[in-house]
Amino acid sequence: MAEFLVLGAGMVGVSSALALQAQGHTVTLVDRTGAGLETSYGNAGIIQVEAAEPYALPREFSKLFNYLFEVSNDVTWRLNGVLNMAPALWSYLRHSAPQKHAQISKIYSQLTFRSTADHEELIRDSLSEDLIQRDGLAMFYRESDEFEKATQKAEFLRQEYGVTSRIVDGKAYQQEESALKAAPAGVVHFTQSWSCSSPGGLTQAYCELFVERGGSFVSGDANTLQHTVNGWSVLTSDGEREAEQVVIALGPWSPELLKRFGYQIPMVYKRGYHGHFAMPTHLNRPFLDTANGVLAAPMKQGLRITTGAALVPMDSPAETSQLVRGVNALNQLMDVGKQIEEPQWIGTRPCMPDMLPLVGEAPNHKGLWFHFGHGHQGFTLGPTTSALLMQAMNGEFNELITALSPRERLL
Ligand SMILES: Cc1cc2nc3c(=O)[nH]c(=O)nc-3n(C[C@H](O)[C@H](O)[C@H](O)COP(=O)(O)OP(=O)(O)OC[C@H]3O[C@@H](n4cnc5c(N)ncnc54)[C@H](O)[C@@H]3O)c2cc1C
Repeated sequence: MAEFLVLGAGMVGVSSALALQAQGHTVTLVDRTGAGLETSYGNAGIIQVEAAEPYALPREFSKLFNYLFEVSNDVTWRLNGVLNMAPALWSYLRHSAPQKHAQISKIYSQLTFRSTADHEELIRDSLSEDLIQRDGLAMFYRESDEFEKATQKAEFLRQEYGVTSRIVDGKAYQQEESALKAAPAGVVHFTQSWSCSSPGGLTQAYCELFVERGGSFVSGDANTLQHTVNGWSVLTSDGEREAEQVVIALGPWSPELLKRFGYQIPMVYKRGYHGHFAMPTHLNRPFLDTANGVLAAPMKQGLRITTGAALVPMDSPAETSQLVRGVNALNQLMDVGKQIEEPQWIGTRPCMPDMLPLVGEAPNHKGLWFHFGHGHQGFTLGPTTSALLMQAMNGEFNELITALSPRERLL
């Protein structure tokens, strides 16, 4: 019998499995498909040191008005989505109050700051160096007053959290990036962030490393999880697998499974889309078009354009208006080329209302560990929160472990 089952082989589950293995545990990793095929596949691939402050829900009337009437392309919503998530959204709004958000950012920034260092060893050991670019992330501002505000914010991020950036005039940036046919007003280039040309590929490479090191990766359905006299069991293609302890790393699918064990976990489900484009000129560095809520990143498949958040039920059909609107806006800055034909990808950011991932033991079950809710930065934070999960399992206590603990937050 393995000591640990890890359910879910996205970046968070695979990183958990590797961390447990490094501690000498026998681990079975279970996913219903393959490794890194869901949210960890289709994201923008940025390892986001710059994201020291998690996304808060704006509380200014003008911004909420823009969201309400979808004037801005950052957020779209459907009534059934908002009603389903109403308690979680209300809690999210409360946690977004400036003072509360500042406290949360003090915790969050400690996670994002070490994220590249926590990936480094895994990138090296999984021979994935060719997927990584250590050249930062650019934020484009189309209006001078927005650029001015962003410049001040960048200075604040530097002083408060050690996030470094370069402030570049739009025309000067255009000289560096030949793919641009028009210049934004200005660019903040966050220099410590990394980008990955295949987030799903990196997750798979980490999973292969886990298997090479003796781990077992099997296909199975987490919904068959049972609490047994010996611990936990799950049905897999290799029959029943049992372990003394289990880690739930099912990203946005985690709360649904945990209902069966008596946990009502509030989650804000922020859907995102991407499309790939056969851009004629290579883009050197990923950038966020802040005015239109779309991020353009060079990937193995072509230029990947990802959208902001759609507040819709998990199972609602794809609506690509946010992507189309973003692509049209990007075409003013550069020629994105023809869209590559493929099934429409949909992914959901699993966001906790207090903007922090849940990392630690379940409040009411021994040997049941939560490791999900990484929101906008799960690709960044998988290895980092796995290290903290190990500390929690070893009975260590510190400010970070307490802040992320389900016991502290769900009871
Ligand atoms: C458009 C978009 C852009 C993003 N960009 C970034 C970015 O640039 N940087 C960043 O850090 N983050 C980004 N994110 C967020 C990031 O992708 C997620 O936070 C992260 O992928 C979550 O990882 P996870 O392992 O928790 O979930 P997932 O990757 O979704 O993994 C969950 C796994 O559970 C499995 N599973 C589900 N149900 C079952 C079941 N019943 N049985 C067995 N297995 C099951 C799934 O198959 C899946 O493999 C972005 C997200 C979106 C949507």
